[in-house]
Amino acid sequence: MTKYIFITGGVVSSLGKGILAASLGRLLVSRGYKVSIQKFDPYINVDPGTMSPFQHGEVFVCNDGAETDLDLGHYERFINTNLSQINNVTSGSVYQTVINKERKGEYLGATVQMIPHITGEIKSRLIQAAKKDSPDILIAEIGGTIGDIEGLPFIEAIRQFRSEIGRNNSMSIHVTLLPYLPTSGELKTKPSQHSVNVLRSYGIQPEMLVLRTQVPLGKNEREKLALFCSVDKNCVIECKDMDTIYEVPLYLEKQGITKEVLDILQLENKEPNLKDWEELIDSIKHPKREATIALVGKYTELNDAYISVVESLKHAGFKNSAKINIKWIASENITSDKEAEKILSDVDGIIVPGGFGIRGIEGKLKVIKYARENNIPYLGLCLGMQCAVIEFARNVAGLKDANSTEFDKNTEYKVVDLMEEQKNIAGYGATMRLGSYPCKILPNTKAYKAYNNELINERHRHRFEFNNEYKDILIEKGLVISGTSPDGLLAEIVEIPENDWFVACQFHPEFKSRPQNPHPLFLGFINAALNQK
Ligand code: GLN
Repeated sequence: MTKYIFITGGVVSSLGKGILAASLGRLLVSRGYKVSIQKFDPYINVDPGTMSPFQHGEVFVCNDGAETDLDLGHYERFINTNLSQINNVTSGSVYQTVINKERKGEYLGATVQMIPHITGEIKSRLIQAAKKDSPDILIAEIGGTIGDIEGLPFIEAIRQFRSEIGRNNSMSIHVTLLPYLPTSGELKTKPSQHSVNVLRSYGIQPEMLVLRTQVPLGKNEREKLALFCSVDKNCVIECKDMDTIYEVPLYLEKQGITKEVLDILQLENKEPNLKDWEELIDSIKHPKREATIALVGKYTELNDAYISVVESLKHAGFKNSAKINIKWIASENITSDKEAEKILSDVDGIIVPGGFGIRGIEGKLKVIKYARENNIPYLGLCLGMQCAVIEFARNVAGLKDANSTEFDKNTEYKVVDLMEEQKNIAGYGATMRLGSYPCKILPNTKAYKAYNNELINERHRHRFEFNNEYKDILIEKGLVISGTSPDGLLAEIVEIPENDWFVACQFHPEFKSRPQNPHPLFLGFINAALNQK
């Protein structure tokens, strides 16, 4: 039978509940337990796919094509597993299911209500997630802050669920912030006490507190929190800010968090195997080299918008004992070749990640031109490949003003165009080409060298594609299509063989990179950038 850990947050948002869930997951996995993690997001969108990255950061894509919260990326990276649609539940998706059932008459004349119907559907999602992978432990993270109106149905569902599955089969962890007052040198516990009071008022007594804090927690604060919040002293866990998120599991482990969790769930505290993870942290903390990568995008004010790209760059760095510095560049600001040169003269590699819409496209094209002409390692991801094709068509193949029909419907040379299968789609939610598809790799290419495999699988999220009408002319001018769909009809990877590393792909390799197993394309790119140095 699966046991459940519920993680809620209080006092403020953005406390890193996702990293906590992922870290605890890692610690349990290191003891041989099978773990799955599920995120509950209280917003009404059916999934985050329709939200701007400015609202919600990156949209993470699973193998099955689910467009999910970015925390699923952390979960996959920390527990080294593949998750799916059932691992991300939103209020919107819950209401949608309930309303669809109501329309079909499945409630047999009942008045459909928050309790028991909405809460029932939430509980059913917990059970579905547990059924899917049969984990020993399912960690469920509830987005938002305790007290939010939107989150109430989830909290109520958890309260019911906990009493239904009985004692020792679940636990509640509440994550809060301890503000530090520098003038008096004090850490304040009162907001956390209030937050726990709110949680209790909904019928949930947490068994454990995790406190985000800038300075270490003293004995005094620990005792106060234990006393006022009715948790065991050993279950008052400190989580201070760390240099790298990957260190969080080890920091928590030192405080005995896993032992306490397993004790509460009445599971055996097996000997952990954290050697790999410790070696990883050691190499992260003692880099021998470094490289600077320009990340040229549209949502650069919010680093979370590219979180999987950033993590993938770091992973490839870890493998090389190299620290990767990121130079964030808003492509909008690059309006001339000169400017591109000025901004990029000190970087060792350039990456153009995915994106939507015309803003900043011309700047991206200038950056790619600079990379191509100056043999600066380049990695293009999705939109970054489409832009590489446009740049090559314009400046190498002489197709003047070539473009994607996403940016100019009437362009003469539609080198990137809407996919055939997309042409009759009207709606916006979950309608892109999504999820994992196979890709055939051409031998004797950079892509082949990186993957060392003829057939790979990668995750997609796009509507537009390389237009095969221009295949012959672009190939004749020197572009290599090094990856295609198995039927050869979709160009999935392009590269320029003269350059040390100029590879761009239609898919999103960043969703498959793991700290201990960096993605081959990121590795190839970072190797080239380090050589460049
Ligand atoms: N906007 C482009 C498309 O829809 C690229 C998408 C992306 O980069 N994820 O095809």
